[in-house]
Amino acid sequence: MAPHGDGSGAAEETAAAGAEERPVSTVVVVIAMQTEALPVVNRFQLVEDRESLFPKGVPWVRYHGTYKDLNINLIWPGKDPSFGVDSVGTISASLVTYASVQALQPDLIINAGTAGGFKAKGASISDVFLASEVAFHDRRIPIPVFDLYGVGLRQAFSTPNLVKELNLKVGKLSTGDSLDMSQHDEASIFANDATIKDMEGAAVAYVADILKVPAIFVKAVTDIVDGDKPTAEEFLQNLAAVTATLDQTVSQVVEFINGKCLSEL
Ligand code: SAH
Repeated sequence: MAPHGDGSGAAEETAAAGAEERPVSTVVVVIAMQTEALPVVNRFQLVEDRESLFPKGVPWVRYHGTYKDLNINLIWPGKDPSFGVDSVGTISASLVTYASVQALQPDLIINAGTAGGFKAKGASISDVFLASEVAFHDRRIPIPVFDLYGVGLRQAFSTPNLVKELNLKVGKLSTGDSLDMSQHDEASIFANDATIKDMEGAAVAYVADILKVPAIFVKAVTDIVDGDKPTAEEFLQNLAAVTATLDQTVSQVVEFINGKCLSEL
């Protein structure tokens, strides 16, 4: 769907149809961690903005470049100014997604990153998933309708041809602001029927939805949540190898998108 609209449904639908029928020209790739982002930056020889598009002083970084007919913008929320670590999680992810869409008016958002996987649902280390839908697992509001708002279930933009061509696994993604999993989170993740778990996806989906930009979620499994290894340890152990796999898949996704309309994905 087109990011613009005058508020009238008919006009928005017409704009949406237009966007589906011309080749995708601008993509925003939101990646939370530097380790995940740099291989993609290097592969596409993206360059960091000299003049930031973003408000002065924020840590958010845009790397941009072109690949064939595509304008690629990789957005990394940067290092936290106080703590010096990657700005992972939903708050940064939603802020950079919002600011990037406002500035760049992309045709498509790709949220790429690592995730925990559930082996009971068929996930293994290094699998790359395309999320079919995304929801939150740590926003429990037990009041009618607010409960659904909290879960915030949203569909990813459907890309059946991409899934087929790249032979990707498809599963539901559940998002929360913690790396570990409390019992409450576990129950919600189960209710969300999730195969993978991350800290950004549903936040990116929320912004994509309110700004009417299609979004897809490419997630590579660094750790098995229902396995016997502690998550943080397993995550760090597999991060380097899995980010290489993630980079490869992101580049295949970009290659596939190049020259195609949204409706052909
Ligand atoms: N200890 C890490 C912290 C990274 S947080 C470090 O030292 O850098 C984990 C990041 O990877 C988040 O961006 C999240 O989206 C993703 N992730 C990987 N495995 C996850 C899991 N099991 N649960 C939630 N997020 C996970």
